[in-house]
Amino acid sequence: MDNLSRLIEIFSHFPGIGPRQARRFAYYLLGKPQSFINDFVKLVGEVKSASNQCSECQRLFIDRGNGKLVPEMSKSSRSTLCNICSDTSRDRSTLMVVARDSDFESIEKSGAYRGVYFILGGTVPILDKEPEKRIRLKLLLNRISDTTAKSLTTTQFKEIILSLNTTPDGEHTADIVRASLEKLTKKSSKLTVLGRGLSTGAELEYVDGETIKNALKNRA
Ligand SMILES: [Zn+2]
Repeated sequence: MDNLSRLIEIFSHFPGIGPRQARRFAYYLLGKPQSFINDFVKLVGEVKSASNQCSECQRLFIDRGNGKLVPEMSKSSRSTLCNICSDTSRDRSTLMVVARDSDFESIEKSGAYRGVYFILGGTVPILDKEPEKRIRLKLLLNRISDTTAKSLTTTQFKEIILSLNTTPDGEHTADIVRASLEKLTKKSSKLTVLGRGLSTGAELEYVDGETIKNALKNRA
């Protein structure tokens, strides 16, 4: 495979991008001046090396020093808690489980939620035999289990809100998460899902803030 084909192949793996769009991306870049490409590649490298994964919510975030990227900082010296998980004014008795970082962004933008989050890292397609490989089930169980209780039957949250797309994959993922949380959340915490206001097939990433507010209010 030549390099141009490899580039197209890489773009075709981007979320929501098909082979035709991937080809257009590659030719778009080819048409740009060399200086643009150099800046672009440098920026991607800097963003990546400044990125970190929150040890509590698993969210990808960028470390900032005075509003600038600080790629020269070593990974080990960086904070592993994101700005939400380290914010003491957030309600730490409520955990919202979302599929992706982009879903987190939508919820956060709506301003309707003040608790903390957990990012599953994806959804599980129907008929998939190995959900553990698709989503962070084990990390989720670790996150919600009460570390002081020494048993995996109680949790440190009063409420866990499942906020997943109302698409077939989203519903399937919700079922898997619900089943594995059941033994943990029996008496200690309430498990809810986003309610009325979210129509079937809704993708949280594209849902407006008002609708998210209503769906949160009507959770059950
Ligand atoms: Zn976090």
